[in-house]
Amino acid sequence: MQQPFRLPLLESVLEAVSAGVVVVDAAHRIVLWNKWMSRHSGCAAHKALGMDLFELLPELRGGRVEAAVTQALANNFSSLLSPTLNRAPFPLYSNPAAIARGERMQQAIAVTPLAFPAGQMGPDAGQAIPHCLIQLNDVSMAASREKLLREQTELLRMQTFSDGLTGIANRRAFDAAIDRETRRAKRNGTVLSLLMIDIDHFKPYNDHYGHQQGDGCLIQVSGALQALLQRSVDMLARYGGEEFAAILPDNDAGQALRMAEALHERVLKLAIPHAHAAGPLKQVTVSIGVATLLPGQPASPAALIRAADGALYAAKRQGRNRIMVAQPEETAP
Ligand code: GH3
Ligand code: MG
Ligand code: MG
Repeated sequence: MQQPFRLPLLESVLEAVSAGVVVVDAAHRIVLWNKWMSRHSGCAAHKALGMDLFELLPELRGGRVEAAVTQALANNFSSLLSPTLNRAPFPLYSNPAAIARGERMQQAIAVTPLAFPAGQMGPDAGQAIPHCLIQLNDVSMAASREKLLREQTELLRMQTFSDGLTGIANRRAFDAAIDRETRRAKRNGTVLSLLMIDIDHFKPYNDHYGHQQGDGCLIQVSGALQALLQRSVDMLARYGGEEFAAILPDNDAGQALRMAEALHERVLKLAIPHAHAAGPLKQVTVSIGVATLLPGQPASPAALIRAADGALYAAKRQGRNRIMVAQPEETAP
């Protein structure tokens, strides 16, 4: 290629390229500010050229961009500023609508040292003097796609671990949690309690009122139970059809029994009519089995579940609408 064409060609490429190109000298003075930068910053090249980058954009001071520019000029180091850590360091906007919304472009920034000859004239003639090239790319689209993907992943995760009817944790989430909490209790030498809660005579309820109303009853009961479990470490899960489980980390047998009483009471307060209830109340009731893993006791999730289930079965046998507590030795694996 003919030499004389090279410079204008490079200039027109720089002006046409879909990326920000900025070059600063060793004193941070802007020596190149391409059209893309003018368009997206609202600052024209004639205003930017010759200015100190950090005077033109003071908010860059003390941040990762300034550190990267210093590294490039002083130590000849290149840096990539990842958009996850530095979402929008430059005040750049993708389009006028984004300016109106005050929504900055998300940026991928590369900072590269440049050394080019000072030219034929002046005190530095012929020497390579340090400059720094800053390249900026608009990654807003990629970032919003990534955000959408993250949200969808979160939604899927929620759907995987929550029960479709009641919205509380499902069996899969319960299995993972009881395993995790049993191991944690063992490791920390803390207590762990488990409640198994089952609606009494739910089959006759369904038969009498219909499946849809049965669903409504499950939603109401789970909502009432969940409302009482306020600690973030507690978990209420739908263990099976009309059976719920509450994992109560750090709760000893006494605390677990008090919680069981409160839950039992709360369901009674709902006063859901049940024509075929066993007792005189003729309303929906629950039976609850309580089991507690003591500190230092050999721990297994299966044994804890078996003990709570055994206590629930005993509550059923003794007439339902009541709470039974498993003996400590029943919790042993
Ligand atoms: P018990 O007092 O011994 O617990 O008796 P029960 O009738 O409650 O127990 P059983 O296990 O015989 O019946 C449970 C019923 O729960 C049977 C089933 O139709 C109903 N069920 C399970 N899952 C659902 C559900 O998602 N929706 C509705 N409406 N009913 C359900
Ligand atoms: Mg039942
Ligand atoms: Mg049941």
